[in-house]
Amino acid sequence: MNLFKKTLFAAFGLSLSLAATAASDTGVTVDQSKYANRQVLPDFTAGMCDNAAPTLVHLKDNLYRHTNGAGLAVHSGIVMITKEGALVVDGGATCASEWLNAEIKRRFNVPVKYVVLTHAHADHMAGSQVFQKAGATIVANKRAIEPIVGEKIPYAIPNRVFDKDMTISLGGETVKLHHVSPSHSDSMTMVLFPRQKALQCTDVCQNKTMPYNDFLDFYYPGWIATLDWILDQDVDIIDIGHYTPATKADQAALRNYMVDLHQQVLDLSRAGQSWDQLYRNVKFSPEVQKWTNFNNMKTLNIMGMYRWVNNHRRGMW
Ligand SMILES: [Zn+2]
Repeated sequence: MNLFKKTLFAAFGLSLSLAATAASDTGVTVDQSKYANRQVLPDFTAGMCDNAAPTLVHLKDNLYRHTNGAGLAVHSGIVMITKEGALVVDGGATCASEWLNAEIKRRFNVPVKYVVLTHAHADHMAGSQVFQKAGATIVANKRAIEPIVGEKIPYAIPNRVFDKDMTISLGGETVKLHHVSPSHSDSMTMVLFPRQKALQCTDVCQNKTMPYNDFLDFYYPGWIATLDWILDQDVDIIDIGHYTPATKADQAALRNYMVDLHQQVLDLSRAGQSWDQLYRNVKFSPEVQKWTNFNNMKTLNIMGMYRWVNNHRRGMW
């Protein structure tokens, strides 16, 4: 290599390392002092790691997946490791976040710089206060603040928020946060890793698994719009916040299920069926009948959809 080329490479390397030390984001700062004396409920995740050790396993490229809890109670989120620091999606439990913060430092020798909260539900937010105290910037959709405060959730008030879109630059990587519309809560954030073709889609996405219970905190049209947005993305791995990672094909199957369930419940309601008749007459495809948790969740799923449908229709009077 001649001197000119060496100088060029050195300069290129320098600009790369400069870029890698300039974490930035397009979010808006939240005035934490407004919430300094807020009331909070007890942390329900205390002791949760006693019977199920948290894990951090490689997913692809510089992405990892943290888990806590065992079996069907598992919670998960993507972790991105860069030279400048780590970005963690959700916490899951206070004890698990304490472990994860130390584990990232131990294995990769970098601090956690960002924690992105997928939505304002306590089971996924738990532990965010651990990272915040350790100096990480907590990020969420702006709609997350009201329920965190109103429901007295004892986890972090975000440091930075956004409305529709936000970009985080960390260690030369770009992470895109996107709020499609209310779906599973109205504070849902899709976390897209464009270079790695990976997506965090917690609770809205499934992996041949039934959506949880009666679709609590549920908005049907926004859920479908969110799945449509996902199907347009160039991603090949989707962490769904539970179970095991999924694909876009799994989300297409979920979309079919949701649309079919909605249409059946609407048709049966318009035919004048009461709940006691209706829930016996909804049909599930052979494919859906094989999904994890089908037997536990099928009647609850119908109930959630029945509530949505009948809150959003009006008959002949
Ligand atoms: Zn949730």
